[in-house]
Amino acid sequence: MSQIYDIIVIGGGPAGLSAGLYGSRSKLNVLIIEKEKFGGQVTTTDELENYPGSIENCTGATLAARMKQQADEFGTNFIKDIVVDLDFSKDIKIVKGKNDEYQGKAVIIATGAKPRLGKFKNENELRGKGVSYCATCDADFFEGLDVAVVGGGDSAITEAIYLTKFAESVTVIHRRDSLRAAGSLQEKAFNNPKIKFIWDSTVVEAKGDEILEALVLKNVKTEELSELEVNGVFVFVGLDPITEVLSGHIELDPKGYIPTNTEMETNIEGVYAAGDVRVKTLRQVVTATADGAIAAVTAEEYINEKFNK
Ligand code: NAP
Repeated sequence: MSQIYDIIVIGGGPAGLSAGLYGSRSKLNVLIIEKEKFGGQVTTTDELENYPGSIENCTGATLAARMKQQADEFGTNFIKDIVVDLDFSKDIKIVKGKNDEYQGKAVIIATGAKPRLGKFKNENELRGKGVSYCATCDADFFEGLDVAVVGGGDSAITEAIYLTKFAESVTVIHRRDSLRAAGSLQEKAFNNPKIKFIWDSTVVEAKGDEILEALVLKNVKTEELSELEVNGVFVFVGLDPITEVLSGHIELDPKGYIPTNTEMETNIEGVYAAGDVRVKTLRQVVTATADGAIAAVTAEEYINEKFNK
């Protein structure tokens, strides 16, 4: 752990990659630590129609790969490691990974968010055997079959539309009688003959011995139970922040998100947050990349002031 980076970015999704680009372009020595896959959640999105400029079949994976390449070309360092502990008590911050320890003058937390579980009976037992959280990863297993999607937000409706390219039918199960998803997505879904809706309902159980065979649904208004035969269920009931390792090191809100000001500063000097992990109203790739850019510029100003006087 000899070298001291200017900025350590934890998380290699759009917010982290944008921070890497902006930091490296300012000639700072930036390290991005990623635990899984550079690109983050967006790599699991097939069609990305609301990131400005992402036209003509731009998939989430393509866009993320371009973001990484761009940061790379400006000299960003990348490493795969799982952050297990932090020490923000001194001017030089320490990020402890499973494989190594890293030192930085500033830290940008861009760990993002992960899919929330549906919390129904047998969800875990049938995970990977019909229960999925990623349509782009698993849709082709359901070619010509019947699937359900749980949720009514942007993710659920985007993925329901995507699933119609593979499945015979897609039934969206939503706990209310109106969708949260953007109007244009709703319109596409309502006009798609393969998509059906079951309103005011939640999934209480997944049934099947080896693989999923049916879902037990509960109507939240009448409490009536019913069964829906499906081969697959895709759960998109929102996200939770990835901040477990940060607990005790930085202020978190009651839901686990990181409060920041508009400059992406957290309650710890020299530590910034960007993207889905911070408290904000619009969690999109476009706001994540903007956050990353702002965090890197704020960090640069801090480093100049604190270390280069
Ligand atoms: P979300 O916007 O929080 O929507 C979650 C959906 O799941 C809501 O419809 C919610 O119902 C439902 N839900 C929550 N808890 C539930 C439970 N326990 N049982 C059943 N249903 C439950 O989450 P998201 O769709 O994953 O989106 C996350 C963020 O990413 C959002 O900011 C979204 O805009 C963004 N995103 C954007 C795009 C895009 O722009 N193309 C694509 C994907 C995601 P209620 O409506 O009743 O609360």
